Amino acid sequence: AEDNLRQMQKMDAVGQLTGGIAHDFNNMLAVVVGGLELAKRKLRLKPAEAGHHLDNAMEGANRAAALTRRLLAFARSEPLLPNAVDPDSLLRGMADLVDRTIGDQIIVSFAHKASGWRIFVDQHQMENALLNLCVNARDAMEGRGKLTISTGQAQLAANQIGECPAGDYVTVSVTDNGCGMTAEVAARVFEPFFTTKPVGKGTGLGLSQIFGFVRQSQGEIRIESELGTGTSVHIYLPRRILTEQEAAAEAPASEQLHT
Ligand code: ADP
Repeated sequence: AEDNLRQMQKMDAVGQLTGGIAHDFNNMLAVVVGGLELAKRKLRLKPAEAGHHLDNAMEGANRAAALTRRLLAFARSEPLLPNAVDPDSLLRGMADLVDRTIGDQIIVSFAHKASGWRIFVDQHQMENALLNLCVNARDAMEGRGKLTISTGQAQLAANQIGECPAGDYVTVSVTDNGCGMTAEVAARVFEPFFTTKPVGKGTGLGLSQIFGFVRQSQGEIRIESELGTGTSVHIYLPRRILTEQEAAAEAPASEQLHT
């Protein structure tokens, strides 16, 4: 429970803005202002040096702009439009996209074991989340390895996983045999903007967004990782028993004619 609380606090966008982000942004502005001041001083006597300082200022401004773009993308959280979704069909629908994203040096295998159980999620965001996990796995395997995407069924006791109430859950797991993580990295991966990837490659927003999405969908996410061995990300989502309307909407058209 304490972990969850801490995590929700970390997800507090306002806290993030007033903390590290504002600090980073200020540093970038300092580079801009400093560069402009130096350029102004050298403008008449050493124009070449002035040009160099202007370039520095420009670079600082560009980095500040990139930061605000990332912030805006993060803040623009789309409203969830949940539906009863069959996770196995969802994965089947994504197979081509995953293959294309992953490249042909990585062996991708699927295991569909949710056997007709449904979850209640925004399908588009669920697909984005899974694709994001696949991209992380690809990066961790540096282009070659084995990626497994599997669904399953779990009966959880109350608080067995986080604060999930007792009941039936669909699990969706993405497993790679890539570089794995140290305990220090694993403890921080859900923090917005936490990344170990080079500047320009990672945003550090993928897992924090997935965390937010899963929690909003009444689920939980867990990471198992061992350095040098690989990583599994497990998502738990409550099983959705179809309402009559949902069942009717799913029935083939021929059956609907008779009701
Ligand atoms: P990004 O991918 O932009 O860095 P994420 O929030 O998706 O942002 O991931 C944060 C960090 O978690 C990554 O930089 C990486 O260090 C670590 N990570 C995520 N997925 C994996 C994985 N499958 N294997 C190893 N490390 C991972």
